[in-house]
Amino acid sequence: MKLDVAMRTDKGVVREQNEDAVGGDPDAGLLILADGMGGANAGEVASSLTVEMLMSQLAGLGKADDGVSWREHLLNAIQDVNQAIQELSQQVSEYQGMGTTLVVGLFTEHSLLYAHVGDSRLYRLRAGVFEQMTTDHTMIQEMVNLGDFASIEQALMAGVPTNVLSRAIGSEEIVDIDLSETELDIDDLYLFCSDGLTGMMTDDEIQSILENRNLDLMQQADELVDFACRMGGVDNITVILARTMAGDS
Ligand code: CA
Repeated sequence: MKLDVAMRTDKGVVREQNEDAVGGDPDAGLLILADGMGGANAGEVASSLTVEMLMSQLAGLGKADDGVSWREHLLNAIQDVNQAIQELSQQVSEYQGMGTTLVVGLFTEHSLLYAHVGDSRLYRLRAGVFEQMTTDHTMIQEMVNLGDFASIEQALMAGVPTNVLSRAIGSEEIVDIDLSETELDIDDLYLFCSDGLTGMMTDDEIQSILENRNLDLMQQADELVDFACRMGGVDNITVILARTMAGDS
């Protein structure tokens, strides 16, 4: 399976700084997105450091043959990064309380291994069906999961805030990571994004841009960011698009 990838990050319309970070190694099938939080520039430090550390920890992973599965490599790398961010936040006063979301994808020949922490998301468009592959680690989502509310809409009406994370990289000694794997089909389109996109656009609006085959992948990424900016762009906006194609990677 071959992979076509487009990445775009933008500070949006309102914020002075961009606390989101993207990276990876598309040729190796590695894609990473992080959305940092914390005062001053701590959020930027947390997200960019997380992306950089994961890139170096996972470089050459496809060639690894030491009996350790890719799942374990990925989980270990994320725990190492979590520990580093937490230590930094405890040692440096400006970085106190910093953290970041994370969504990371590792494309192999036939499957996608993906892990996430926080409210950055992974979606998939396959044969006209657009679905969210990740469940947000937010207080509002946890309350719905626990049955406190029947739906996100009901929790919103009761005044529960949407932007409080229940998990983040850097906030606990051991981070609880969601890890899943899905089989790939040819012509799947995967979207990794920060909440600066999903806070401004409905899933239907996102889907209609992804289904516009008059645009190439980079133009679709641009259109997603531009649309979110037109809707207010109150937060940093980051997208990674990855389309699977027939052929050798
Ligand atoms: Ca954000």
